[in-house]
This record gives sequence, structure tokens and C-alpha cells, in this order.
Amino acid sequence: MRAIRFHSFGGPETLQLDTVPVPEPGADEVLVKIYASGVNHLDIWLRTGARPSIETPHAPGSEVAGEIVQAGAAVRNVAVGQRVAISPWAFCGVCEFCLRGEESLCVDGHIIGTAPNQGGYAEYIAVPASIAVSIPDSLTYDDAAALTLAAITSWHMLYRRTRVQPGEWVLVQAAGSGVGVYAVQIARFLGARVIATAGSNEKLNRARELGADATINYSEQDVASAVKDITNGRGVDVVFEHVGEATWEQSIRSLARNGRLVTCGATTGRGGKVDIGLLYTRQQSLLGSMGGNRLDLQQVLSLADRGILNPVLDTVFPLAEAQEAHRRMAARAQFGKMLLHPTE
Ligand SMILES: [Zn+2]
Repeated sequence: MRAIRFHSFGGPETLQLDTVPVPEPGADEVLVKIYASGVNHLDIWLRTGARPSIETPHAPGSEVAGEIVQAGAAVRNVAVGQRVAISPWAFCGVCEFCLRGEESLCVDGHIIGTAPNQGGYAEYIAVPASIAVSIPDSLTYDDAAALTLAAITSWHMLYRRTRVQPGEWVLVQAAGSGVGVYAVQIARFLGARVIATAGSNEKLNRARELGADATINYSEQDVASAVKDITNGRGVDVVFEHVGEATWEQSIRSLARNGRLVTCGATTGRGGKVDIGLLYTRQQSLLGSMGGNRLDLQQVLSLADRGILNPVLDTVFPLAEAQEAHRRMAARAQFGKMLLHPTE
């Protein structure tokens, strides 16, 4: 089969189209023919060597939708011919967190496409049958792949971690990103008022179309001051963070009393200061979040099936053009999810 792999850590040019064996599914695994594969910031971190334990050559890719073409002897929950999205967390099933249904906290878990397994930048992938989730008939493979990791990450952050309440203010940083486009929609669905930030007015207009009540152009305005203006000096109840060092200080300054900041990433750097005095006197919370669970994926697909959550697609590239997709992501040119089509 064809697969895109990086052969050393470095720039987009390290991604090469290779011919590799089709993986053989184990007794509790399924072989999935991939029709749509999401491109994620995680893929870029792996490619640039942020996780040096990964052995090269390696095919990244954590957001997979496709058809089951082979099932191991012990597989009971899904069958050959079924359309499935792959929940991005492979988990052990027996640790204390798995027993609670918190698979993304598994002590022996990993995200699909990170070591040790090869990911979704390929024509086929073998995965545990337990993480294959049925795709509703109303959704395409592109829809499902566009939701798989990005939407469950946003859902997990806003619905489970911060428990956004009706009437609250939510600030979504970098609302045009893969996770941002879902954060705007989910916060609205939960009844919040949404302030979206982006680096261009075109992206801000699209964020308004997705449901943002107010927008801030972070390349022209001081975000925390603009938030204070919009909220009559109060600040927001929840900040949706994933940008990291570049926005951290503005995000903290935007928080209202009793506000909570939730983050799922540090794209621009891991450093970030916290004024402990302000943190406790204002009784604020800092929360981490990473990916989501199978239940999150089922709920997100159900919301999309009912038209509540709209998959937001940016560009679809043939598998062989993965380098272009990575360049587009690095340039922050996209609005929503970029996909690869391994069948093209
Ligand atoms: Zn576990």
C-alpha cells in the first residue's frame, strides 16, 4: 500500500510517498481501508522531532475514517463492510482511568499515529476493534475524519472539563484552527456567549457565521482589553486555549473572577507565567485537557448527525500532497480541517 512517512525529523520535505506492506490485523483488531485522514498539529510536532522516541520512517495521522475490510477472529462489536471513525485513543482497558471511561487518561494509552503504531497517512490501518465507532448514515467519511480528533478535543474541553453553563462568556483563541471551529459551535450549543479571536478579518467573519457573538483580531487588538470592553469590564468565564506561550498572558488576563482556563496545546511554546496571588484571590482554575474518549466521539458524531455540529473542512489533498498540507498548516492559512484522501 502507499503511505506517507517522514524518514528523518525536519521540515515538510522529509515526508515521502512510500510503498509498505498492508498491516495484518491481530485477533482483536480490524483492518480499515482509509477514505479520509485528518491533518493535525500533532503530525507536525512528530515530524519535527518533538517526540524523539518515535522511530523513523514513520507515518503520522490520528484522524481516520474508513471501511472495515478485515476483522480478527475475536472481534464482535463491528463487522466487515461497516463505515467507522477511529477514536484516536488506544487504551489498555484495565487501568483505573479506563475503568472510569476516561480512556484519554489511560496510564498505558497512546494516540493513534504516535509511537508505536503507524498512523493514518496510508491506504490502510490496523487498529483495536474497540476504538472503531460507527459513522451515522448522514455523514460522509470526510465529515467523520474532520470531527474525529479535533471535535472531540473541543467537546471534552468545554463539556467535560469546564462544564460550560448557559449564559456564560467563552473566549475561543484562534477560532479558525481545527479545534477552534468546533469550540465556537459547541460553546454556542451549550448556551454560552462566544468571543472568537483570529489573525484576519476573513477568519473572524467565518467565526461569526459559525456562531461567535463577538470577534477580536489578535494581530490588531490587545485581546484582554478587547475582552474587557465586550464584557463591560467583567472578563470571560471560560478561556479555550491551545495556542500556548504567545497567547497565555492575554488568556489569563481575560478571565473573570471564578473563571476557568482550559488548554489542550502549546503550539507556540510551553512557557507561561501565572500570578499566584491573582489566581487565588480571583478564585480561578487552570485545567488541562487532551483528546477525548469513545463516548465523546459518539456524542460528537450524534451532534453532527442532528445538524447541531457542522464539520468544517478547509482543503482536501491527495495523499501524495501531504507536504503541501503541512506547509499550509504551518502558515496558519487554513480555516477548519485539512484532510488527505489516500484513495486519490
Ligand atoms: Zn488504561
